[in-house]
Amino acid sequence: MDIKENIQRIAATLPAGVQLIAVSKTKPAEAIEEAYVWGQRAFGENRPQEMAAKYQRLPKDIEWHMIGQLQEKNVKYIAPFVRLIHSVDSLKLLMKIDREAAKCCRTIDCLLEFHIAEETTKSGLTYEQAVGIVESEEYRELKNVRIAGVMGIATYTEDAEQVRREFRQLKQMFDRLKELYFTGKPEFKEISMGMSGDYRIAVEEGCTMVRIGSSIFGRREYMNTK
Ligand SMILES: *Cc1c(COP(=O)(O)O)cnc(C)c1O
Repeated sequence: MDIKENIQRIAATLPAGVQLIAVSKTKPAEAIEEAYVWGQRAFGENRPQEMAAKYQRLPKDIEWHMIGQLQEKNVKYIAPFVRLIHSVDSLKLLMKIDREAAKCCRTIDCLLEFHIAEETTKSGLTYEQAVGIVESEEYRELKNVRIAGVMGIATYTEDAEQVRREFRQLKQMFDRLKELYFTGKPEFKEISMGMSGDYRIAVEEGCTMVRIGSSIFGRREYMNTK
């Protein structure tokens, strides 16, 4: 696997305004260092303890992105340094992130994760549930989190048109939320969608972040689609 070549090839296809998150979950710190040398600064992980261990070892100007399902009890491991949590799927989790961020005197940016795939095993909110969060009293009182946009994972399928419809739906939910709840909030701007197999479609449908793992680092020893 030539990490440098992969990053350069993918980066060259991304329009300005789309950030590449290199998904390094399960990969050793050495693989991250290699990408880092070639200029990559944003890395995605799905296990809090693994992310914290890598944070300890690696250069401090790396941006760490939590992309996997996050349990409340594990927020403390990443709260001191995480750049963006892509996978907020409940008000309770958002409230927990707020408490842990306050302990670190930080404000943590979060994305609302939407369920856009056909598979019921994938997590995420419905549009109505997201509205329930942003309209709640509890949310309005949070001082140490900012909702910075939305995230979604498309169905794992060969059917490109289905994937496109799902990404388009996520973009529409972003636009509606922006108009109804986040006008005048410039931080609400991120649409995190697209992985190795479908990021080209996500770019065409207006994403601002792609999360790419195996096309950069090679296939993983175990699969975790979350
Ligand atoms: C693992 C993972 C990715 C990267 O998947 P690849 O197919 O290896 O690019 C992206 N997003 C999430 C949420 C993931 O868990």
